[in-house]
Amino acid sequence: MIPYGRQSIDDDDINAVVDVLMSDWITTGPKIKEFEESICKYTGAQHSTVVNSGTSALDIAVQALSLPENSEAITTPFTFASTSNALLYNRVKPVFADIMPDTHNINPDEIRKKITDRTRAIICVDFAGHPCDMQELKEIAAEYNLLLIEDACHALGAEYHNKKVGTLADMTILSFHPVKHVTTGEGGAVTTQNKEYYDTLQMLRSHGIDKNTMSRSGPQGDWAYDMKYLGRNYRMTDFQAALGISQMKKLDTFINRRKEIADYYNHAFSDVEGISTPVTKPYVRHAWHIYTVLLKNHNRDAVFKQLRSAGIGVNVHYIPIYKFSYYQQNLPQKEQFPVSEETYKSIITLPLFPQMTNENADQVISSVKSALEK
Ligand SMILES: *Cc1c(COP(=O)(O)O)cnc(C)c1O
Repeated sequence: MIPYGRQSIDDDDINAVVDVLMSDWITTGPKIKEFEESICKYTGAQHSTVVNSGTSALDIAVQALSLPENSEAITTPFTFASTSNALLYNRVKPVFADIMPDTHNINPDEIRKKITDRTRAIICVDFAGHPCDMQELKEIAAEYNLLLIEDACHALGAEYHNKKVGTLADMTILSFHPVKHVTTGEGGAVTTQNKEYYDTLQMLRSHGIDKNTMSRSGPQGDWAYDMKYLGRNYRMTDFQAALGISQMKKLDTFINRRKEIADYYNHAFSDVEGISTPVTKPYVRHAWHIYTVLLKNHNRDAVFKQLRSAGIGVNVHYIPIYKFSYYQQNLPQKEQFPVSEETYKSIITLPLFPQMTNENADQVISSVKSALEK
């Protein structure tokens, strides 16, 4: 089976992890800061806080906003569940806005329709690695005084008008799960240009504890610390950070290979009836986390089964969040999301990862073509 995504680990990565395992610090050591600095250097972000998952990163980012009770935040239903779960963890009500048919990113016009006097934030998601229209989202945020979190778990390395993702929103979320661009096994990060958010995020990652104030100002010795927030233990280990540092060095090589395969697919499917290939706006650098196509006039589920039995690890991204039983029970929707519904019915994810060979890609292409003929 050719999987839809997988990690690329080489000897340098393995040696970096082993070095840390043989050192004095396997957690809360120097590799954490070094990994954070490499993320800042790559993205151009001023601050970065690494944690143990992308989901934890979303959780502390929402917590750092300190939104009042009964707040609402507008987000897309066409994403992984943790985007809106992070709002629920923090007792903020997710309000879904429908997506755009071309990029499958949240539709700014739909956001405007969902704004109430309780709306405090927007969480957008750069679907598949194609950045959202950040200029338009920022204008809405400024007009209604909303905070903007960009869930860029698909989009490390992407660019919007020549600016790297990581610097475009109030806070940007990254994931280092094995199917993402660089991996630490499990892991995530929040980048921000705002020092106050950064200080808060660093505390929220580790029990809400502040090691600075008390020891600096109090009469006590080095043992003193304060707990300022109800934080968690979301810390990443140093051997994971070492893997992350080593992986970051190869990020552009990974993305270039992903793009090569995506271009190859685009070309191969350009004259195939019934498939529409992904749209890339001229002002973005796509990070190609996943490669999805829409199947027109075909039964997606039948094509899916056919491809799986041919050894092609296709997937579906995403089941709209409001369809999950937890959401149906706790956050039933009165409104419809026609574009999400239509996209969900016809979308399929084809394998895409840096170590795929051209032969793998050819196998995917010919299997898709023969599945469509049946
Ligand atoms: C992967 C992903 C997450 C969560 O990341 P984890 O590291 O798996 O917790 C959140 N949002 C989106 C859009 C993702 O793709």
